[in-house]
Amino acid sequence: MEPGGGVRAPGDWAGGLLDAAAASLGGGRSVILMVPDATALAALEARATEQFGDGSFVTLTAELGPATRYRNFLAAARGDVRLVLGTRAAVYAPLPDLGLIAVWDEGNDAYAEPRAPYPHAREVAALRASREASGLLVAGYGRTAEVEALLARGWLVPLALPAQQARRIGPAVKVAVDSDRALERDPNARAARLPHEVFATIRAGLSQGPVLVQVPRAGYAPRLACQACRAPADCPRCGQPLRGERAAGEMRLTCPSCGPLPGPWRCAECGGTRLRAPQVGVTRTAEELGRAFPQTRVVQSWGGRRVDAVGAESALVLATPGAEPIPEAGYAAAVLLDAGVMLARPDLRAGEEALRRWLEAASLVRPGETGGTVLVVGDAAERPVQALVRLDPAGAAARELTERVQTRFPPAARLVVLEGPRAALEDAEAAWRPVPGAEHFGPIPLDDESWRLTVRCPPAEGAGLVRGMRTLLAERSARKAPGAVRLRVDPQAVG
Ligand SMILES: [Zn+2]
Ligand SMILES: [Zn+2]
Repeated sequence: MEPGGGVRAPGDWAGGLLDAAAASLGGGRSVILMVPDATALAALEARATEQFGDGSFVTLTAELGPATRYRNFLAAARGDVRLVLGTRAAVYAPLPDLGLIAVWDEGNDAYAEPRAPYPHAREVAALRASREASGLLVAGYGRTAEVEALLARGWLVPLALPAQQARRIGPAVKVAVDSDRALERDPNARAARLPHEVFATIRAGLSQGPVLVQVPRAGYAPRLACQACRAPADCPRCGQPLRGERAAGEMRLTCPSCGPLPGPWRCAECGGTRLRAPQVGVTRTAEELGRAFPQTRVVQSWGGRRVDAVGAESALVLATPGAEPIPEAGYAAAVLLDAGVMLARPDLRAGEEALRRWLEAASLVRPGETGGTVLVVGDAAERPVQALVRLDPAGAAARELTERVQTRFPPAARLVVLEGPRAALEDAEAAWRPVPGAEHFGPIPLDDESWRLTVRCPPAEGAGLVRGMRTLLAERSARKAPGAVRLRVDPQAVG
């Protein structure tokens, strides 16, 4: 609802967060609103100033500088303001009588603290909400398996539009088959061609307004898969994606937790013994499209030089995922290139992450009934591609969680990764051995001094395992044992 009582426009996430905040503030309680990055924070700040006025809130981010951050921290602690906006550090804002913590774009990995072991801000928010009896609102275009697990346990209640209504306000989504397969049949083909549907969609879109072309960043090491059946090549012991390393002219397969595969690889699905690495072809795109639409204004927005917004006039907008300029009146169309590249990262979250990025791009496109179209270029048999076509992040998250339960990965297990001198990792045995259901992988060597040990246990035993590991680290530092040890709990990716 708008302050005047009307209904907010679809996709107005900032308005939604501020409405939730207004309800708690109106009841006399304080509120933390979290966003993943500076761009989102600037948008939220502008809207909060409009709605609540200057001086009604403070911001907390790592970029503020210590003096300002401290001043804002104090203002919150003293109760001078009851509303804090910020990035992941804001989750610790010392507000008294907390009524609501809201996390926008909960799947964004900006919420994961790179200086581990601090946990993911969404997890801290959930913990604070339960301890301080405050409301918790997690929102986004995608849905993580972690949030699905909180739903399954009844900690969260889903708030979503009925599928029919979501499809009515969302764009029409279609799939164009990637030429990857064609390239495989003819490995001598010099460059893969973009499917002709891409040109048709862009041409039709340009006659109505700006067209977004999402181009995945180059440089992902691709996830290996079976040549025969395309099942991903995962570690037979722990289930993590295997990586290929060339050593002495030979392809050697390595698991980030268990180390090199002891024998030759064999597909668990079909028994095949040949591997394929999906084609990565990104740089060709900008040139090829530029040639095809020579009279069109081209806007490029990458991580390092991001363009914040584009107008309503026709333009070809090339952007990496997460750097899409916000269109004044919606994109007429969006083309999501190289779905296979997004899905081929050797990361258990690749599917979840790809779908979140695609849905975010789709949210910037006009409704299907006014011609808004999304074309994804990839394999229609891939489950995240199907979930995009159906605009169904909830179904995708439910399947993802089932899979994590079967393979025992977070949130269906707790994963602790220790890296440091071998002797320290051997000492760690005293910490994990007594934990019921704990299994260990490694230690495997990372370099001359450093080794990696991965320990997995049931979620209920996680707190005990982490406590034991922390005690071990404290003892090591007390007796000044040589070498640093890094502890990570449920890292976003091992490696
Ligand atoms: Zn196979
Ligand atoms: Zn393994």
